[in-house]
Amino acid sequence: MSASLVTVAYIGATILFILSLGGLSNPETSRRGNLYGMIGMTIAVLATVLGPRVTAAGIPWIIGAMVAGGGIGLYLARTVQMTQMPELVAFMHSLVGLAAVVVGYASYVDPTSTLNITSAEKAIHEMEVYIGVLIGAVTLSGSVIAFGKLSGKIGGKPLLLPARHWLNLLGLLVVIWFGREFLHAETVAQGMTPLIVMTVIALLFGIHMVMAIGGADMPVVVSMLNSYSGWAAAATGFMLSNDLLIVIGALVGSSGAILSYIMCQAMNRNFISVIAGGFGGGAPAKAASGDAAAPVGEVVPISASETAELLRDAKSVVIVPGYGMAVAQAQHTVNEITKFLRDKGVNVRFGIHPVAGRMPGHMNVLLAEAKVPYDIVMEMDEINDDFPATDVAMVIGANDIVNPAAQEDPSSPIAGMPVLEVWKAKTSIVMKRSMASGYAGVDNPLFYKENNRMLFGDAKKMLDEVLVALKT
Ligand code: NDP
Repeated sequence: MSASLVTVAYIGATILFILSLGGLSNPETSRRGNLYGMIGMTIAVLATVLGPRVTAAGIPWIIGAMVAGGGIGLYLARTVQMTQMPELVAFMHSLVGLAAVVVGYASYVDPTSTLNITSAEKAIHEMEVYIGVLIGAVTLSGSVIAFGKLSGKIGGKPLLLPARHWLNLLGLLVVIWFGREFLHAETVAQGMTPLIVMTVIALLFGIHMVMAIGGADMPVVVSMLNSYSGWAAAATGFMLSNDLLIVIGALVGSSGAILSYIMCQAMNRNFISVIAGGFGGGAPAKAASGDAAAPVGEVVPISASETAELLRDAKSVVIVPGYGMAVAQAQHTVNEITKFLRDKGVNVRFGIHPVAGRMPGHMNVLLAEAKVPYDIVMEMDEINDDFPATDVAMVIGANDIVNPAAQEDPSSPIAGMPVLEVWKAKTSIVMKRSMASGYAGVDNPLFYKENNRMLFGDAKKMLDEVLVALKT
């Protein structure tokens, strides 16, 4: 394939990736978005492999790597539980970071990469290597720690070293100083020491940055690492002089940054402090030690048949799903109940919090899988004003996202986080197994409100019982 044909193929792939991102922004077009992405990636891989820069001798290596990587990917995609998705995503990000580091080192020691180039071009190439390895190493170690935290292998409590911001600043200054040394190195052997020192500092910085972040803020971190992995891919594109990789990396980097910003707003976090990696001290630390005032009042349990009765008598029902619905895999029963109630003329809608579950869009994916119609699935801002006119707000395995303490208790660790105001409905029913707290580790005063009822038990089991009761 000629170089100009490869360029045309790359432009086509770029357009498909942009269409893919556009499609993924809406559940109704997301399948098409995925398809565009797959076609774009196929074109990109074929154009690269068949292009002029790959020699015949390299083809068996590429095919071997693709079979191995594709096989592992296929296995993971088939076996991963929906609840394990965030940690899988974090793990994938670490691979992008690792790739950027490895490509950076390979590109630096490769004598052909600096053949026949001017000293200015050589300096630019070395800067690409240095920055690429830096971003890659931060993404690699940060993602490994995020994987450990999300999978529960590392505790969710933030690790706050004394003078941690000064440590980060010191690390940055050392990295800049060694960057200068690296650019002034006359041989590869001379440049290796600053490169290795910077890599170690970047790896430590990635660990330090994510270790300092509390469990409740992890979604923002995952999205931020997604953004970092995009910039790492873009840096790899610069090192390999691959325009498509630069464009795609920038698309992933900027869309990840936008998502991080949206999530910061949804969790009432400061975007700049997240990007700087220096947040998580105050709020999550308090969450871990439970400093906020414990809620008082009476908890009123309810049975499945009483729940069915309330639902049958309601004109308007809002269902708020959370992490527990994903764990219990209750989405299909939720859909059955929704269908039943809608057939009886009840106005049933869903209220989705931007960080419900354990990854952005978690609930939307589950509800789409269960074939809940898209037009009754509302975002938090669309539904929040409707709670006062709602007869029953049914909370299924959600906790933090419906915690009134976020609005009512300024000393709460989640104070200021926007929440779904289910307590404003005539009756709210919370379905969960116990009085245990949610991901943020904060007590929930909703459970003690006068108009709240608790339906204790596994969400799937209880909803099955509610469905049976509704039908009889
Ligand atoms: P929470 O983690 O706050 O609450 C989930 C509740 O589900 C728990 O209190 C648990 O109570 C209950 N539960 C667990 N298993 C079951 C089951 N089988 N049946 C019934 N209930 C069950 O989840 P939310 O969705 O309300 O909030 C999301 C939280 O996760 C936020 O704090 C968010 O910051 C964080 N987060 C979000 C991410 C994202 O991107 N969406 C990523 C990472 C974290 P019990 O044990 O009593 O049953």
